[in-house]
Order: sequence, then structure tokens, then C-alpha cells
Amino acid sequence: MLAPPVRCLLDTPGLILWLTGAGVSAESGIPTFRGKEGYWQVGSRNYQPEEMATWAAFQEMPEEVWAWYLYRRGICRGAEPNAAHRALAAAERRRGERFLLVTQNVDGLHLRAGNTLDRTYQIHGNIDFMRCSRECLPAPVPMPEGVDVAWGKGRPITERELQALKCPSCGALARPHVLWFDESYDEANFRFESSIDAAQRASLVVVVGTTGATSLPMHIGTIAAQRGIPMVVINPEPNPFSALVQRTGQGAFLCGTAGQWVPEIVDALPSA
Ligand SMILES: [Zn+2]
Repeated sequence: MLAPPVRCLLDTPGLILWLTGAGVSAESGIPTFRGKEGYWQVGSRNYQPEEMATWAAFQEMPEEVWAWYLYRRGICRGAEPNAAHRALAAAERRRGERFLLVTQNVDGLHLRAGNTLDRTYQIHGNIDFMRCSRECLPAPVPMPEGVDVAWGKGRPITERELQALKCPSCGALARPHVLWFDESYDEANFRFESSIDAAQRASLVVVVGTTGATSLPMHIGTIAAQRGIPMVVINPEPNPFSALVQRTGQGAFLCGTAGQWVPEIVDALPSA
């Protein structure tokens, strides 16, 4: 049950900025693809995600990087949006322009649940999209037909798939639309400035299932703290965001999973 002080925080006519991370997708069965579960074997060598998810690896072995992403995409496509995803889609329908979602998740589950691209800033990209490796396209394009979504680990990429993974404009090999470890946030691909702007305008920030391991989410939390606006933090254990709430005294930490708290919070939002 939401405590009355938390209900009070939700009672805002202004913009509510939601920030979601891997914790939201965990309940759909999406692994984090970090550490041991994320390694990828090329020849006799095991590569860690931090090595595979790089522009450098794509330059060196584009087919292997694509094979890894197609395998990961197969897992994402096999998963379904959960109660937290569905609640966030309902929140957007109800609040319209007073709703904004910034997500670190690349699995595409927020869009599949019904959130719109306009109001969902996918700051690490989306595995269901690709873009030109020479950046000749104005925006990412959906993954093409003819690329199997039931990929197995260790299956090599086919010639037909390689042909499908070409930029529709210039014919160069396309790349997964994800932010890699050796790349930086930008506005065109990842809505960096728009996310900062949203943090500066929001009346409330709700942080769900993220540890703050990457710089932009923590930046958003810091802006909220500096502006003195409340932050509601949902996570199974304390994290840097709950520490911010504790320090500023603005907001609340709800210990638990996204599925436990997000539907209840969305139900409690004033609709007008
Ligand atoms: Zn191109």
C-alpha cells in the first residue's frame, strides 16, 4: 500500500519524468547481458559484453557483433511486456504531455507495451532498430524483414541476413541502434539534451529499477536534487538514487520490484 505522504507526492499537475532501467525488464525475463551471462565466443576466445558492445569491435568483426545482437534480440522478442510496462503505457495515455519516459533499456518492451516514440527517450537505443554505420540516415529504421528473430547462440550470420542489414539509403552495412561503451550520448540518436531539459522541467522524477551505473540517469537524479523536486525511487535494494532522496529529504524510497510498485503508483496518479 502506498503511504499517504507518497500519494501526496504523486498529486502534481506538472510533468512526471519516469526513468527506467534493467530492473523493469528483469520481470519479463530479460537478462542484463553483463558479466558471465553476456559473454560471446568468437573462435576460441570469449568476449565480454564490454568488448563486444563497442564501435571498435564492430569495425574489427561486424558480422560477429551483428550475430551477438541478433541473438540478444531473439531473447528480447521472445519476452513479453510485464505489469510495470503496461502501467507506464497507461500512464502516458492518461497524462499525455505531462508524461515522459527516459529508459536505459534497449529491449523495446516499453514501445511494445504501447508507449510512443515521441514520449519515450531510449537513451541507450533499441535493439529493434538499426541505423547507417556511416550515419547517412536522419533517424534509425526498424529492423528489416528476413532477419530471423529466433536466433541461437553460436549460429553464424547468413549471407541473406547480411544483405538485409544494409543501410536502405547508401548501401553501407547498418549497425545496431544502441549506444556502445566507446561512444557518447547525443541528441540525434539518444535524446541527450531533451532528457536533461525534461529533468529541468519535471515536477516529479520516478526512478525504477536502475542502479545509476551510467552517467545520464545519475545526471537526471542530480538535477532533480539540485532543483529540490521530489524523487520516488523503486528498487529491491538501496541505490545511489535512494541515497540522494535520503540526503535531500525530498521524495521516497519504495523497496521492492517494478511490478510491485509501478501499477499501484500509476493507479494513484490524478488523471486530470
Ligand atoms: Zn547510409
